[in-house]
Amino acid sequence: MRLLIVEDEVRLASALQRGLASEGFTVDLAHTGPDGLHAAQETTYDAVILDIMLPGLSGYRIIEALRGAENWVPILMLTAKDGEYDEADALDLGADDYLTKPFSFVVLLARIRALLRRGVTPRPASLTVDDLVLDPAAHTVMRGGATIELTPREFSLLEFLMRRAGDAVSKADILHHVWDANYEGDANVVEVYVGYLRRKIDTPFGRQSVQTVRGAGYRLTAEIG
Ligand code: CA
Repeated sequence: MRLLIVEDEVRLASALQRGLASEGFTVDLAHTGPDGLHAAQETTYDAVILDIMLPGLSGYRIIEALRGAENWVPILMLTAKDGEYDEADALDLGADDYLTKPFSFVVLLARIRALLRRGVTPRPASLTVDDLVLDPAAHTVMRGGATIELTPREFSLLEFLMRRAGDAVSKADILHHVWDANYEGDANVVEVYVGYLRRKIDTPFGRQSVQTVRGAGYRLTAEIG
């Protein structure tokens, strides 16, 4: 079994390499984002251990690039508890599992073995409502085959609505899930972003898929307006 470790903390990477080698794995190391992406593209690994904060290219961009190219190598992300990102982001972007630093080698080994048992599973992760398709791993949105460019916040809002398609979701729910849970600003920001979203996913296509539900919030439907 051949593994790739992408980790810029050289001593940690080397310690993991030694430990995994003693368990019978063949382990390659990369210490920068670009080197890691290149290695993962050039070599077929059984699993990749990927740090998030890397020089040159973050672990998230590496996952996006690999999944965007339909490379489904099992990926274990290493996240820092106080980091800019969290575990949900890692899984949304197409990681298979994550470990929060600091972690024990025994736990890492168990997680890697579990990943290897599962093997490569192409992710049918796309969300589809009518002809609107959102791919959380590749971070793309399409309507009827046309690519739609969204800002990260618009993307999160659309993903939230698509995961609850057909249900009315309140502004408070949207604020809580799409904005920070402790967001103290004006709740009208939801209306503003729903407006942005409609201008991108509905208006150009003559649709009204994001409906206002009086007194309740919004609902994404497959109905053609
Ligand atoms: Ca790092």
